[in-house]
Amino acid sequence: MPELPEVETIRRELEREAVGKKIKAVEVHGTRTVRRQTKKAFASKLDGVKITGVERKGKYLLVRLDSGDVLIVHLRMSGQLLRAAAKDPVPKHTHVIITFTVGGQLRFVDPRTFGEMFVASPETINEDVPELAELGFDPVEQPVSWQTFGQLLRNHKMKLKAFLTDQTIIAGLGNIYADEILFTAGLRYDRMTDSLSTQEIRRLYRSVVETLHDAIKYGGSTLSDEQYVDLNGKPGEYQEHHKVYDREKLPCFRCRRANISKAKFAGRSTYYCELCQV
Ligand SMILES: [Zn+2]
Repeated sequence: MPELPEVETIRRELEREAVGKKIKAVEVHGTRTVRRQTKKAFASKLDGVKITGVERKGKYLLVRLDSGDVLIVHLRMSGQLLRAAAKDPVPKHTHVIITFTVGGQLRFVDPRTFGEMFVASPETINEDVPELAELGFDPVEQPVSWQTFGQLLRNHKMKLKAFLTDQTIIAGLGNIYADEILFTAGLRYDRMTDSLSTQEIRRLYRSVVETLHDAIKYGGSTLSDEQYVDLNGKPGEYQEHHKVYDREKLPCFRCRRANISKAKFAGRSTYYCELCQV
């Protein structure tokens, strides 16, 4: 599932590719991707409008339109946003095709159809998308100070991995980056948030910011399922830099004594080093 670094990679490419372009036509196939409004309402709000900017909030892409509306895109499990030429063969599972007046298309491809697209107006966006209004701080777009971060940790008496992946506290983190962040910080996934020393809080804070920026630099992570690709269909490279995620039984890069362990946490696999993380 794409997390903050993958969505940010797409945001940056989309900003270069789509801003300033005017939409000529919109095609919607199936009923899953556009499900909060009718296909007709969706298409009519996009027809003839120009894209003025692309923002990101957590894992959501917010495409600003010159009509004042916002096109919201959430990739969820397997959604892909791809640029294409109109003559390119349309891949299977293409649910939305946006064609620009200058030529070129944006296509939304999604085999598992959990992803979605819809157009919201700024006045009703908080009611239309309550989960967007409830998102916590974005550690790349709007980072808080380490002191505020420490306050958040102390106020939530919960396990560290649950804290990091709670979208209402920090927006954009999922299973992969939570594990990588905790390894770099030297902290176990099941440590309680209110048990951290000041030094550990600072280490975790630094690890959140640095891990995410590093992952963005490498274009995010593409796992063996190859579901995440960027706007040009290219996989990310950060998986080559993963220190724990999907490295069960492989030697720890830091201590070189233990092998990476795998545990179940909240129904998901969690990777960590028994020796390096306390
Ligand atoms: Zn280790």
